[in-house]
Amino acid sequence: MKIHEFQGKQLLRDAGIPTPRGSVARSPEEAAAAYKDLGGELAVVKAQIHAGGRGKGTIKTNPEQRGVQLVRSAEETAHVAGNILENELVTIQTGPEGRVVHQVLVEEGCDIARELYLGIVVDRGSGGPVLMVSSEGGVEIEKVAAETPELIFKEPFDPDRGLQSFQVRKLAAKLNLQGKTVRVADTFMRTLCALFVKLDCSLLELNPLVVTGDGKLLALDAKMTFDDNASFRHPELAELRDLNEEEPMEIRAAEAGLSYVKLDGNIGCLVNGAGLAMSTMDLIKLHGGSPANFLDVGGGAEKEQVTEAFRILLSDANVKGVLVNIFGGIMRCTTIAEALVAAYRTVGFSVPLVVRLEGTEVEQGRKILADSGVDIISAEGLTDAAKKIVAAAG
Ligand code: ADP
Ligand code: MG
Repeated sequence: MKIHEFQGKQLLRDAGIPTPRGSVARSPEEAAAAYKDLGGELAVVKAQIHAGGRGKGTIKTNPEQRGVQLVRSAEETAHVAGNILENELVTIQTGPEGRVVHQVLVEEGCDIARELYLGIVVDRGSGGPVLMVSSEGGVEIEKVAAETPELIFKEPFDPDRGLQSFQVRKLAAKLNLQGKTVRVADTFMRTLCALFVKLDCSLLELNPLVVTGDGKLLALDAKMTFDDNASFRHPELAELRDLNEEEPMEIRAAEAGLSYVKLDGNIGCLVNGAGLAMSTMDLIKLHGGSPANFLDVGGGAEKEQVTEAFRILLSDANVKGVLVNIFGGIMRCTTIAEALVAAYRTVGFSVPLVVRLEGTEVEQGRKILADSGVDIISAEGLTDAAKKIVAAAG
């Protein structure tokens, strides 16, 4: 689960990490009031969407307007907020369609001496969390990682013991921090690493992490992602979820207990098991097609769940054909066949349907399909199935 910058900053503040003061606004009037509350001259209006690159991003209908802008009066704040709110912001991470902005963060402008990068992720290499920093903050860290990886410094840490002070000293030296900033960095980085573990984050990123004119550290941007598998441990985080930012189909699928990820191809896939789903997508690609989704109905799905899976696939206008690839183990082929017939009766199939069934109760499953009168293209094996659906959807 992702959250907004203003929510992430609140969690940081609660943990004692310094951030600029600010508040969220949903109208130009609220934005102007938020500006006045700050009481200073320089402030910043920042679009709140679950995507980065807002500073360089532009409003679709008004390319002059960026997603992050400095302001110097209440009138200007209201004007900029008015330009951004309820409009689509296009950034390098949103794709060309952009994302509608429903709220802006109005926060105090800060005195930036240096923009650094700080990120914490779970690292397969070291088998645990790793803190990464770079002096190349503010810009795209992916670019730094690709072109000048030697400018990113990493310290893996033990989730129970936390980041150690000697590790902070190493990083502070690499970042060329001076004087009291080194001491400030100790609490700052160790607190962040502890927060990452406590909240079961999969990503905690401050880009930029700012060194202020008076040598303090400040989280100027905050991106946090939580591991959904640990959500049961954090009921307090549930209210931070913003369904506006999520793919409606993915929400529906999650409610039905299905693992579904929307993609941009045109072949809908209904598969049981994540490994089989991955190889099915590979095969579609290999034979010149493009999957419209990843969908794992799981090992023990009931008929109603599978029917909902068909409904989800068929409600996607991009889907020009559906491939059902089932290897029945715990899942019975009869369950799939009954769900397929139910989906046919309730929603109908307007696109070609290729079905490959193997495993538990396969004969009975095939018979249900044959007796139902549903128009399907049967396939024998994976390659045959992939070739047939690519031909049928093309
Ligand atoms: P994004 O990463 O989505 O572009 P950021 O929050 O990183 O958004 O903001 C982009 C840039 O805007 C920052 O690198 C910084 O230079 C400037 N900025 C952001 N917040 C402030 C602030 N409170 N005061 C001064 N400058 C800011
Ligand atoms: Mg940023």
